Amino acid sequence: MDNYDVVVLGGGPAGLAAALASNECGGKTLIIEREKLLGGILKQCIHDGFGLIRFKEKLSGPEYSGRYIDMVLEKDIDVETSTFVTEIKKQGEEFLITIVNSKYGVKKIKAKAIVLANGCRERTWRQVFIQGTRPAGIYTAGTAQYFVNMMGYLPFKKCVVLGSGDIGLIMARRLTLEGCTVEGVYEAKSTPSGLSRNIAQCLDDFSIPLHLSHTVTRVFGDDRLNAVEISKVDEKMIPIPGTEKIVECDGLVLSVGLIPENEIAESLNIKIDRKTKGPFVDQNLMTGLEGVFSCGNALHVNDLVDYVSESGEIAGENAAKYAKEHKDRKLIRMNADSKFLYAVPQYIDINSLNQKVIAYFRSRDIRDKMTVKLLYDGQVIFSRKYNKLKPPEMERITFDISKLNLKDNGEINIVMEG
Ligand SMILES: Cc1cc2nc3c(=O)[nH]c(=O)nc-3n(C[C@H](O)[C@H](O)[C@H](O)COP(=O)(O)OP(=O)(O)OC[C@H]3O[C@@H](n4cnc5c(N)ncnc54)[C@H](O)[C@@H]3O)c2cc1C
Repeated sequence: MDNYDVVVLGGGPAGLAAALASNECGGKTLIIEREKLLGGILKQCIHDGFGLIRFKEKLSGPEYSGRYIDMVLEKDIDVETSTFVTEIKKQGEEFLITIVNSKYGVKKIKAKAIVLANGCRERTWRQVFIQGTRPAGIYTAGTAQYFVNMMGYLPFKKCVVLGSGDIGLIMARRLTLEGCTVEGVYEAKSTPSGLSRNIAQCLDDFSIPLHLSHTVTRVFGDDRLNAVEISKVDEKMIPIPGTEKIVECDGLVLSVGLIPENEIAESLNIKIDRKTKGPFVDQNLMTGLEGVFSCGNALHVNDLVDYVSESGEIAGENAAKYAKEHKDRKLIRMNADSKFLYAVPQYIDINSLNQKVIAYFRSRDIRDKMTVKLLYDGQVIFSRKYNKLKPPEMERITFDISKLNLKDNGEINIVMEG
């Protein structure tokens, strides 16, 4: 049986960065990827805008992932593509992983630590309760992107985009460039869900209208979609009767959110945070189950790939260190108040050698001139002022706990004032 220090599940940007960091720390490392090629979702993101923080360059998705793939292939890192993990079991201090592929059939592998870097999936129309028949022509934005960018098919002539998430905005532009008429982007919330730069570059520059506080309430068509019903919604996002209008189209693109993919974490009974939909983790990105780490979009949905790679590095480095030796954790809670959508990590291991914490958070609402503070035992241990905080834009802070004398019965509270 093959034995590894670290097995990384998923070969997207998070998994690639995790494997490199694990290898750098001397960990014998394997990447398992279910698709034929490494690169994750970036393979189909042919637009630019990746890597501005990391490489100070505007790269396309394949260019960004290509740089990491080259680095991985240069190192002594094993890679199994077209390989599916069917089961992971904890056996004493180690993990027994069952994989299936056409090379070996069923095979078992042992690992001292696991990094979950398996990304996220898109919400479907069943999850947003649209009524009507089940005609062809309704796709999630990622599927439409796969059709256009990878297969070279244009799936619609005239479409409506539901949801103003980044993938929907990018697809509105992409479909327009390919000759499709994008009638408009409809968003149930009163503010856009995507990054401001994407609203400007994907909608405003192409005169694609954005209709806030609107949603699709019904679809029409037998074999093929031929129209959708649009309604205005109130502040609780409930459709307002009498505001319905029919828009003829042969395509509906859904960009209504992403959810971390966590079947494997759940099968290991790892506790999932209701807010992030990813596992609870400490500053080393170790989950509630010793030896299992989580990063990238499997941990929480990121808007910038640079932070995905950063979290992969943290998880990979700490997984390799854990595989060599580890001591008991002493976890204290890090709680974000109700003004935050979420904050990660949710725990701090005060016994860890790593005393530097990188935390990511999102504000629940758009807020001007706010101060974010970290409080421990009533004392302010970190404070930063923000001119504007917006839910679509994830924020990152770093702080050092080495001089704080944190006690195992304490907790850190993240509050927003202003
Ligand atoms: C359409 C779109 C546009 C974007 N635009 C930008 C942009 O302009 N700029 C930017 O910075 N960021 C952008 N992002 C965000 C960024 O690309 C993602 O946050 C990032 O790719 C997530 O990386 P990941 O490694 O966590 O997940 P993924 O890239 O999804 O990789 C996860 C990998 O895990 C594999 N996997 C899943 N389950 C298993 C399993 N059980 N066994 C084996 N393998 C498994 C999957 O096949 C996949 O390859 C965009 C994202 C999308 C979807």
